[in-house]
Amino acid sequence: MIRKVLNKRYRLHKERRILPILNELEKNQYLTCEEIENLQKTKLSNILKIAVDNVPYYDYLKKESAEIFSDGISSKQMLDKFPVLTKKIIIDNYKSLINPRCQNKVIKNYSGGSTGKPVKLLQDSVMRDYGLAATIRSDRWAGWEFGSSVFKFWGASRDQSAHLKEKAKRFLFNEYVFDAFGWDKDTIKTIYKLMKKEKPEIIIAYASALYFYVDTVKQMGLKPNHVPKGIITSADMLYDWQRKEIEEYFNCKVFNRYGCRELGLISCECKEHNGMHISSDRIYLEVVDDNNQPVPDGCAGRILITDLTNTAMPIIRYEIGDIGTISKQRTCKCGRGLPKLESIQGRITDYIVSSDGKYVSGTALTTVVPQLNNVQQIQIIQKEKGKVLTKVVKGANYSKQDELNIETVLKKYLGIDMIIEIEYVSSLLNEKSGKYRFVVNEMC
Ligand SMILES: [Zn+2]
Repeated sequence: MIRKVLNKRYRLHKERRILPILNELEKNQYLTCEEIENLQKTKLSNILKIAVDNVPYYDYLKKESAEIFSDGISSKQMLDKFPVLTKKIIIDNYKSLINPRCQNKVIKNYSGGSTGKPVKLLQDSVMRDYGLAATIRSDRWAGWEFGSSVFKFWGASRDQSAHLKEKAKRFLFNEYVFDAFGWDKDTIKTIYKLMKKEKPEIIIAYASALYFYVDTVKQMGLKPNHVPKGIITSADMLYDWQRKEIEEYFNCKVFNRYGCRELGLISCECKEHNGMHISSDRIYLEVVDDNNQPVPDGCAGRILITDLTNTAMPIIRYEIGDIGTISKQRTCKCGRGLPKLESIQGRITDYIVSSDGKYVSGTALTTVVPQLNNVQQIQIIQKEKGKVLTKVVKGANYSKQDELNIETVLKKYLGIDMIIEIEYVSSLLNEKSGKYRFVVNEMC
């Protein structure tokens, strides 16, 4: 109990700078949808204006400034004037994307490197503080409070030389951090025993790491030994079957969330577990089609994020690389007015863009395989819109008729105007990851 009080005091002292922001965000979440949209529009207009007035990359928009920021213009109309910002554009135009007049304290941050070269971004202290406050707000939805004991199954590698520092931090934060990579059965057993001893109120984990833990302890015949208040999963896709197994084992609900290293928390589930509330008071999230136009709510498209707080390097219409859907339902039983992301359907690289601009998932396309005769293995690669390259490993009785069949079947899913090129190969080489990918989108 004494430790809990100490932890609470320490955390409140350490985070004192962000407490006013946290109060602001706590209030914002219960505004109506319309009030949140208005608040967002004010913040959006402010950050876009800072970009046009100060950032060399957006200099060419100065002549349209009066039109972009005219009375009565909508958020969508404002954003429509701005180009999509890809990771490649940031790398190629790094210096011209920086605001030379930013007065706030500036720090460097990097994107995750799972899909290529990490991207360096500049953040100011306001963005960092809003990011942290938004994370704390949604941690609370899962039952976390200042002083809560936490187990983290995370990816940061632990440096042995920092052992003492880690111990002190663990005590002060009441937090155990387990490196989620390279676990063996002994490590898992140690965590299992510690779980019983420390009884963490909250577990925060990579979805895949926590699933691996649950699956392994079950295989070892180790019965559940603790029921936490809440479980938060993040960082990678949480599949329904993983959620089911984790919830059953811990007898506790999973609060899934979505975010990325470079922008922080984007959305998080509330106790209704029916979509993830978007942090719309600190970011503007768009779901767009192939022409960068918003798709109707309930339809899948590419996710673009505009940060509403970072004046050091305004991040406008950032291509995060994921496909998602905004929920059609504008209200939630929990009473929060923040809009919801219905789902994240995966990486853009796992989608083919059909000839009429729709995103067709690789998973959906796997249903074509049984319709293809005499094909041993197949891979669909898209390098440009309107055209796909299909690599085929022929089966024993493959004929011209089977080639025509591939074209007919694929056109049914990808559009009648899609150009289907077929290349015959002796095998489909594994990528560096060692995984065979059925669909590869090389356009992004
Ligand atoms: Zn809700």
